[in-house]
Amino acid sequence: MVHFVGAGPGAPDLITLRGAELLKAADVVIYAGSLVNPVLLGLCQSACGLYNSAEMTLEEVLAVMESAEEASRTTVRLHTGDPSLYGAVREQMDALEERGIPFDITPGVSSFCGAAAAVRGEYTLPGVSQTVIITRMEGRTPVPERESVAALAAHGSTMVVFLSAGMLDRLQDALLRGAYTAGTPAALVYKATWPEEKVAFCPLGELAETGRAHGISKTALVLVGDFLSGGYERSRLYDPGFSTGFREARP
Ligand code: SAH
Repeated sequence: MVHFVGAGPGAPDLITLRGAELLKAADVVIYAGSLVNPVLLGLCQSACGLYNSAEMTLEEVLAVMESAEEASRTTVRLHTGDPSLYGAVREQMDALEERGIPFDITPGVSSFCGAAAAVRGEYTLPGVSQTVIITRMEGRTPVPERESVAALAAHGSTMVVFLSAGMLDRLQDALLRGAYTAGTPAALVYKATWPEEKVAFCPLGELAETGRAHGISKTALVLVGDFLSGGYERSRLYDPGFSTGFREARP
């Protein structure tokens, strides 16, 4: 059996209880060494086989899973944040299915949630934005043309940009080709929830310069949108004049 587990954004106590139990019971752990906090590996049994997937190909990862399965051992494939976002999990799951190896998935706290906590923000503010666009700049991995950052930025919604801290000049230009202005608030969040977490707020027009000033060029998210500034409407849900299935409107 292979368990895909989300490790959370960095702080070791942000893995789920289920994920921690699976790690404790695993015979083999294949972890995404570039971003998974190594402190989490302290949960593993001393006899557990540890593999850093940052140094492995997909074929090597699958070979480890296969031989563990043949020996009736349990494998945890530990991905950073939540496995469903930029985790390259689908190709592993499809290969396991082909080989008849059973697997399941334990979600994790994604770094975009860690980043919201770091800026003490709410992505979906009434009267500001009710949509969060999660995307990335094209790098070695292509992005479909209709999903270019400039096209998505046309919505002016809240945006969270992954995997793009190394190209902040291009990102800033692309975002400014959408509905945002040079004055739209932005934030760079480096290593959210890790002890070395850094947050830098700036107007979008100064994003690249701010990245340079703070030495941030990797392991960071770019947050953009008016949710980072002052104005918003109060929620209907908690408005005294609003009835819900749980509460009558107050007179
Ligand atoms: N599955 C992960 C994302 C993996 S892609 C998740 O759900 O978070 C790797 C990218 O995620 C990094 O380049 C960076 O953009 C972002 N990232 C991962 N952990 C981060 C953290 N703690 N703080 C800020 N960005 C992070």
